[in-house]
Amino acid sequence: MLLHRSAGITDGVYFYLWVGQGINSNSVVLANALDGSQPHVLIDPGMTGGAIGERPLDSLAQAMAADGLQMEDVGLVIGTHCHPDHFQAVDEVVRCTGAKVALSLPEYEFLKGPGGAFYGGFGANPPAARPSLMLQEGELSLGPSNGWRAEVLITPGHSPGSVCLYLRESKVLVSGDVVFPGSIGRMDFVGGSMRQMRESIDRLSRMDVEYILPGHSSMAGPLVSGRDNVVRNFQMVRMML
Ligand SMILES: [Zn+2]
Repeated sequence: MLLHRSAGITDGVYFYLWVGQGINSNSVVLANALDGSQPHVLIDPGMTGGAIGERPLDSLAQAMAADGLQMEDVGLVIGTHCHPDHFQAVDEVVRCTGAKVALSLPEYEFLKGPGGAFYGGFGANPPAARPSLMLQEGELSLGPSNGWRAEVLITPGHSPGSVCLYLRESKVLVSGDVVFPGSIGRMDFVGGSMRQMRESIDRLSRMDVEYILPGHSSMAGPLVSGRDNVVRNFQMVRMML
């Protein structure tokens, strides 16, 4: 059953909004961003299984296929952070595709330490996939021949090594669980920090962003689009800190 709603944001950027009942994150696909035979980048694969028999990863694969994007053609999986609702399905995607995996180093260390405990709450084990790419602050060169570039911002606060990805050409910010429409990520989990969240939000609010693609949507909407709305959203969420 299709539990994602697909939205093409700008050229090659697809937002997969989770509309199922159980907990799972939204996903983003950068189509044809890599050289080679598996050119797609999948950000936050979500979960394989969930409440009431939902199969979020199967749904994501179907929603992608409806856009002409095959899960088998994913060559890189990026986790904005290691929480199970965003990252649990990584092992299954790697099993099916052999894709490379990217996470920030502080987040990987967190996953190997206290962050791994989140998986117990879902009756799952922490992913076995070892990142072959440790995301670092700065430019992430994806496909040199087709011009895709993404910028990695290490933005802790919700978890110690949370990243946001910024696509400069299209002014898209993939924000994980740092900032949502009208809200910010929880800071009361292990690894959360209000001080760091304040710094991360301050930093993001100074960027030139047209679209915020969040890890979860809210009553305020599925995403934030339009520069004025983005500015207003940051003004609103800064008051929460
Ligand atoms: Zn999270």
